[in-house]
Amino acid sequence: MKILKRNKVFKVLTIILSLGLMFTIMGCTNAEDTNNDPITGTGMSFELPELGYAYDSLEPFIDAETMEIHYSKHFEGYKNNLNIALAKHPEFNKPLEAMLADLSLVPKDIRTAVQNHGGGYFNHALYFSILKINDGQTPNGELGAAISIYFGSFEEFKEAFSTAAASHFGSGWVWLIVTDNGLKIVSTANQDTPLDQGIPILNIDIWEHAYYLNYQNRRAEYITSFFSVINWDKVEELYLATK
Ligand code: MN
Repeated sequence: MKILKRNKVFKVLTIILSLGLMFTIMGCTNAEDTNNDPITGTGMSFELPELGYAYDSLEPFIDAETMEIHYSKHFEGYKNNLNIALAKHPEFNKPLEAMLADLSLVPKDIRTAVQNHGGGYFNHALYFSILKINDGQTPNGELGAAISIYFGSFEEFKEAFSTAAASHFGSGWVWLIVTDNGLKIVSTANQDTPLDQGIPILNIDIWEHAYYLNYQNRRAEYITSFFSVINWDKVEELYLATK
C-alpha cells in the first residue's frame, strides 16, 4: 500500500482493536520501559480482545459451540504463538500492521510465525468485531453509497463476495478492502492479510473451523448465514475511518 496514509490504517486498526476489545502491552520487565503506544510498544505482547457479546448471540446463524472454540481456542492459539515469536526479539519494535503489510521488516527467524500467527491474530480481531445479527439490515449511509458505486448495488456486491468466498480453494479469507481506487473484494490464503493492498473493513473466515461443526462441508450455507450476522454499523465505522 503505497499511497494510502499510514495514519488511516492506524486509525482503522485502533478501532478494530478497541471496540469492545483490548490491546495491551505486557512483557516489559521494567515498568519505566513501558511504552504506552499500544501498537508500537517495545517488548510488546498481545492479549485476546474481549468478544463483547455472548457465544450464543449469533444463533442460529453461527452456533455457540463454534463461536466458543473459534474464539477461545483458535484465536487464543494465534495470539499465544504470535507472543512466543515476538518474545524472541524484545528489541524488535514495529506496528503489527506494518509487519503484516511488509513481512520483510520482520526478523527472518520469526517471519513465518508472524505471517501465520500475527495474521491469525489480526484477521480474527476484525472478524469477531464485525459480527452481530442484523435482521436483514443492509449498509446505508456513505458505505452503502460506495458499495453501489463500486459494485453496482448491494445485491451485486453480495453476489461477488459470496462467489469469492465459495470458490476460494482451501483455507483463507475473503475481504472488503478500501484501496486508492475504491472498494475491492480480495481473497487471501491461510492467515495472510490484504494489508499490502488496502485497508480491510470486512472479512469472512472460510477456514473449516469457522463453520464445520454446524455446516460440515456446506460452506455455501455458512456464507449465506454470514450475511445475517454482518454488523454493518461497525463496517461503516471502519469505512468512515479510512476517509
Ligand atoms: Mn478462524
